[in-house]
Amino acid sequence: MGREQALMPSPETWLAREQPDEPVFFFCPQRLGAVAGRFLAGFPGLVSYAVKANPLPEMIEGLWLAGLRAFDVASPAEMALVRAHCPGAVLHYHNPVRSQAEILAGLAQGCVSWSVDRMSELEKLSALPAGTEIAVRLKLPVAGAAYDFGAKFGAEPAGAVALLRRVTEMGLTPSLTFHPGTQCRSAEPWARYIQAAAEVAGEAGVALHRLNVGGGFPSDRGEGHPDLETIFSTIADAARAAFKTPPELVCEPGRGLCAEAFMLALRVKAVEPEAIFVNDGIYGGMAEWRDLGPMGRLRVVDPEGRLRAGRAQDRVVFGPTCDSLDRLPEPLALPAGIKDGDFIICEGMGAYSRALVTGFNGYGARRVVRMTAGC
Ligand SMILES: *Cc1c(COP(=O)(O)O)cnc(C)c1O
Repeated sequence: MGREQALMPSPETWLAREQPDEPVFFFCPQRLGAVAGRFLAGFPGLVSYAVKANPLPEMIEGLWLAGLRAFDVASPAEMALVRAHCPGAVLHYHNPVRSQAEILAGLAQGCVSWSVDRMSELEKLSALPAGTEIAVRLKLPVAGAAYDFGAKFGAEPAGAVALLRRVTEMGLTPSLTFHPGTQCRSAEPWARYIQAAAEVAGEAGVALHRLNVGGGFPSDRGEGHPDLETIFSTIADAARAAFKTPPELVCEPGRGLCAEAFMLALRVKAVEPEAIFVNDGIYGGMAEWRDLGPMGRLRVVDPEGRLRAGRAQDRVVFGPTCDSLDRLPEPLALPAGIKDGDFIICEGMGAYSRALVTGFNGYGARRVVRMTAGC
């Protein structure tokens, strides 16, 4: 495996030459640089990266090279990973439930911001140096996201008020954070959360040091390119409208930063009239499709890398493992003439893809080829 480079203009050229039997990710540094540039230029505050969305070294180093300095980590392993690639990184420890050993690891790794959503976990943080930032995680009933992030973590407004007051009493620095839910196509959930955050801070009688507006920034899963700039300006406007003196803003995108930088190429193993079998599935790089539906941006090429055109036909898609659950949630519209040995190239596959590969039955996309000539 290791790190492979390809001086090739497209995955098609590489696939035609290599004829890989295993699924392959293609990493495109140019695309990563372009998305990171949009966040850094457009977001009205600090941009941090939620490592869990894609913890590959290519991603962490690529974001560092693009100018990102802050990383949202949720475990000691993620802290060590970021430190190994970017020793000078700023770490935000935003998993609100921690064991004592994890708290010690966070201290040893110098995490500068810690999120909490319940009093018992806040009390466990009494050993933090005076003045450390505590970001109280707020939750509201969700709307507009593809997936609910408030189902597990977050304090309701009354609880957040009590937590902010206690943070101040403990001599720590109060901030607020929330996560509007992943793949939010509209800016409206951020505006609602920012308004609610101002009300919670007002009620608690604390001036927020920072307001972290979470992740949730969308990628293109087939609905068209997301309008990140409108989301950024809505966030800035909402903060100005809600606060007399707006706190510094922070965001922590996972998907929005990493999705576009990777493609995934699958290979067709067998074709039947109503179904096909491919070399990865829901236990591998397509794990997320069960929850979000299939990626809409895909194309089929023959073994020579030529586009298979022609009439589309819906087919059930089975993955490679011997488990009957290993099929994609919906049939895919694929060229009727698709053949054994063809490749399916999926765009926008950088988020929650490689990160969720299990290796079940010995399968799962692991190989990563870096496209140094652009793509
Ligand atoms: C997962 C996560 C993110 C990133 O979410 P995306 O929807 O991928 O942007 C950000 N913050 C926290 C606390 C998370 O758990």
